[in-house]
Amino acid sequence: MVYQHRYLDGSPLALPVGKVVCIGRNYLDHIRELNNAVPETPILFMKPATALVSLDEPIPWPTGRGECHHEVELAVLVGRELRNANAERARDAVAGYGVALDLTLRALQNELKSKGHPWETAKAFDGACPLSPFLKPESLPEPQAADLALQVNGQWRQQGNTRLMIIGIFELMAYISTHFTLQPGDVVLTGTPAGVGPLHSGDVLLLRLADHDFSARLA
Ligand code: ZN
Repeated sequence: MVYQHRYLDGSPLALPVGKVVCIGRNYLDHIRELNNAVPETPILFMKPATALVSLDEPIPWPTGRGECHHEVELAVLVGRELRNANAERARDAVAGYGVALDLTLRALQNELKSKGHPWETAKAFDGACPLSPFLKPESLPEPQAADLALQVNGQWRQQGNTRLMIIGIFELMAYISTHFTLQPGDVVLTGTPAGVGPLHSGDVLLLRLADHDFSARLA
């Protein structure tokens, strides 16, 4: 089915589906587990709208391209255009919060990184961004202090909290808007805490954002 943004409570959400802008390293514990350096400026990359899929249907699974890792992330839905914005304007532009997986073909990404090449084929493929329905901003009054976790086949793999981000949600959106205009319907992924690892076809997932759980399954 064609992906469309929607609210968890079923109320209408009339925003187009746009690009997804992501940050590469935004939690110290995750930077350490991959032996990466702490970046001096945020590392940004994008996924196209064709990467978005709903958690309600089995998540399409890339085969024959090496290990695919889960990265559970707070997702922010942009409701108003942001260009060269400050953090306060960014906060006002939020239309909702959700939880996403930044699926990553890790072996391919490592190969690309070692050659100094861009990461798109490892991170921007079709289905590379499974995404939950969105909570309205008033339903998550403290987005910078929310539990963020992922369970795979009944085992907790990632258990973090958004307060552990290096650059906060609204500062990140403001920074992004100095490089790429954020448009209504775009999504920002805010980085992953530690615990990333491989997934397999048929895995059963539970994604947690604050006190909201979302279940999903890999095709
Ligand atoms: Zn990520």
